[in-house]
Amino acid sequence: MSRKQLIAGNWKMFKTGAEAGQAAQKLADLAAGIREPEIMIAPAFPSLPIVAKALEGSGIKTGAQNLFHENEGAYTGEVSGPMIRDTGASYVIIGHSERRQYFMETDVHVNKKIRSAFQAGLTPVMCIGESETERDEKKTFSVLDKQVSNGLKDFRSDEIEGLVVAYEPVWAIGTGKTATTDQVQEVHGYVRSLIAGLFGNFLASGTRILYGGSVKPDNIRSLMELKDVDGALVGGASLDPEKFIKIVQNIG
Ligand code: PEP
Repeated sequence: MSRKQLIAGNWKMFKTGAEAGQAAQKLADLAAGIREPEIMIAPAFPSLPIVAKALEGSGIKTGAQNLFHENEGAYTGEVSGPMIRDTGASYVIIGHSERRQYFMETDVHVNKKIRSAFQAGLTPVMCIGESETERDEKKTFSVLDKQVSNGLKDFRSDEIEGLVVAYEPVWAIGTGKTATTDQVQEVHGYVRSLIAGLFGNFLASGTRILYGGSVKPDNIRSLMELKDVDGALVGGASLDPEKFIKIVQNIG
């Protein structure tokens, strides 16, 4: 099955509203005429409506970096799926390793967040990945197994159609270290087979699996050539529109 490639930029906690608006405008200009791959930018919450407005008509999508699983209520400081949808966003990143590491997010939270994302009409990008110690201890597959099966627990396959998975080895995020192409294909193939085992081949073959971890203009092509890599989740290199667009252009 052919899967539409997706290059997503995670701006993390960078850029004020004005800076985000300018960068989005620049990106829209640079991406004029590009229809493939699909592009998505995930700015900080306050910048979502500003970026969505700047990208209007460009075809570039916006996404949030997190959500809270309840739709509304007394949850000070949280932001819900319907609120994110209302800004014009269509994606939401869920379970990023920084959320797991600094905000104690577990697979149980991830599971609830994925359900509320779909209910709000948002496409979740579920992040998974092992730490350096886990890889050294040869626990990569068992870690991914748990993250996928618990993150997607109690879903029927028709409820998670369109789900995007991002494999981000924690040791490659923001470190300049990229996993080798052999390591990436091995994991992506494994994750697709896990999804097939849980939800069947149809869902597995339609699910986009992105790679994330120090993706740059000069390493994107070799990653995108891999059979089970359907795009990238880019952190640092997405902050500069010129650099990010080179990643988009270099996918081959
Ligand atoms: C990320 O934050 O999802 C990421 C992959 O970061 P970087 O590209 O900076 O490694």
